[in-house]
Amino acid sequence: MPSPHTPPPVRLRLAARAESAVRSGHPWVFADSVRSASREGAVGDIAVIYDRRDKFLAAGLYDPGSPLRVRLVQWRSPAKIDGAFWRQRASECSGRRGAPGALPPETDGYRCINGESERFPGLVADRYGPVLVVKIYTLAWLPRWDEVEAALRETFAPQHLVLRFSRNIAPAARRDFGLAEGFAGPPGPPVVVFREAGLRFEAEVLHGQKTGFFLDQRENRLRAAGLAGGGEVLNAFSFSGGFSLHAAAAGARAVTDLDISRHALAAAERNFDLNRGLPDVAAARHETVQADAFAWLEEGGAGRRFDLVIVDPPSLARRARDRDAALAGYRRLARAAVRRVRPGGHLLLASCSAHVDRDAFFSLARAEVRGAECWTAGHAADHPAAFREADYLKAICFKVARAGA
Ligand code: SAH
Repeated sequence: MPSPHTPPPVRLRLAARAESAVRSGHPWVFADSVRSASREGAVGDIAVIYDRRDKFLAAGLYDPGSPLRVRLVQWRSPAKIDGAFWRQRASECSGRRGAPGALPPETDGYRCINGESERFPGLVADRYGPVLVVKIYTLAWLPRWDEVEAALRETFAPQHLVLRFSRNIAPAARRDFGLAEGFAGPPGPPVVVFREAGLRFEAEVLHGQKTGFFLDQRENRLRAAGLAGGGEVLNAFSFSGGFSLHAAAAGARAVTDLDISRHALAAAERNFDLNRGLPDVAAARHETVQADAFAWLEEGGAGRRFDLVIVDPPSLARRARDRDAALAGYRRLARAAVRRVRPGGHLLLASCSAHVDRDAFFSLARAEVRGAECWTAGHAADHPAAFREADYLKAICFKVARAGA
C-alpha cells in the first residue's frame, strides 16, 4: 500500500557537534542543534541531514513539536523510506531473535524490536505468545502507521496486535490521527499467558506496565535463580513475581514478593498458580507482602533475613536532574538490603534509571556491600543497546560476607 504521506523531505543542517554525533551513529537530533531547515516540516515528515559540503549524512522522522526534533532511521546513503524499508528492518530484528542462543528454550515472550538501537526510534514491539504489543513513544510514526503495521504483521505474523502509546502522545494520537490504544484488528484477550524459559506468566497486554511484563530482566532472573536452590528468597519490588518464580522453579524453599502494589502482588499469586504443576514450584512457600520496600527493608518484617535478596526498583530518575536523588535512593536501598542477607547469602541490586550510569551505580553498590562480587550484567540479548542512553539496565550481584555494619 503506498503511503499517503509523501511530501518532500525537510533538509536540515546542524551545529558542528550535533553533526559529528550523527556521523558517529547517534540516533537523536535535538531542536537546539538545528541550524537551518528548508521548510517548516510537519509531524512524521522525513528529515534529511546534510553536512557542510552538501553530503548526505542521515535521514529520520521529523517532529516539529518535540525538542527531540529528528529520530534517525538511515545513515550514510539515502534510501526510500517506505513499507519495504520497514519490512527489511523488521526482518533483520526477527533474524537476530532467531539466532542460536539469542533466547532461552521454551520462551515465547520477548522483545521483537527494541527502538532506536534497532533503527525503529521511539517504537518497541514485544511478543507474548500470539499477541504482538507495539508501544509508540513519538507521534512521528503515526502518519505512516499503516505501512509500519503491515510490515510488522508480515514479519512477526501475530494473531493479534495491540497498539499502545506513551502517556504524552496518547491524546494527540486520537485527536490528530484517529488512533486509539487497544487491539488493532481482531480483538484478543486482555491478559495473555506466555512462557519464559519454561515458566508460565501472564501479561496484561492492554493496561499493564510497559507492554505488560518486564522482559529486560529475563537473563538476570535466570542468573539469580542459579543462586536460589534450597534457600529463602526476598524479591523486593517484585511486580508480578518474575524473579521469585524462577527462584522457586530452581529449588528455593521459600519466596517472598514485596511490592507496594496490590495489583502486582495479585498477578504474582496467579503466576505461581499457573506453575504449580512443577514440583519445585509446588513445594516452595510463596508469600506476598504489600509495603513500601524502602521502609520494609529498613524496619519491617521483624528483622527477617534471607539467603538471596533481589532489589529491582522502578526508575528513580525520570529526568537528568533527579540523578543525585536517585543515587541517594540506591544507597539507602543497598544499605538496608545488605542487612537482610544472611552471612554467605547473595544480594542482587538492579537499576533501570537511564540517568544513572553503569559506573556510578556499580561503585555505589561496591562501596555499600561488604563481600565478594559475583557478576555484573545488563539487558537480555533481545534488548540490544546501540548508544549510551539506551543502556539503562544494570545489575550487580554479591556474596555477602557479613550482614550489617
Ligand atoms: N522486578 C520486577 C520489575 C519491577 S518494576 C520484575 O522482574 O518483573 C517496579 C515495581 O516496583 C512495580 O511493581 C511497582 O509497583 C513497585 N514499586 C514502586 N514503588 C515501590 C515502593 N516504594 N515499594 C515497593 N514497591 C514499589
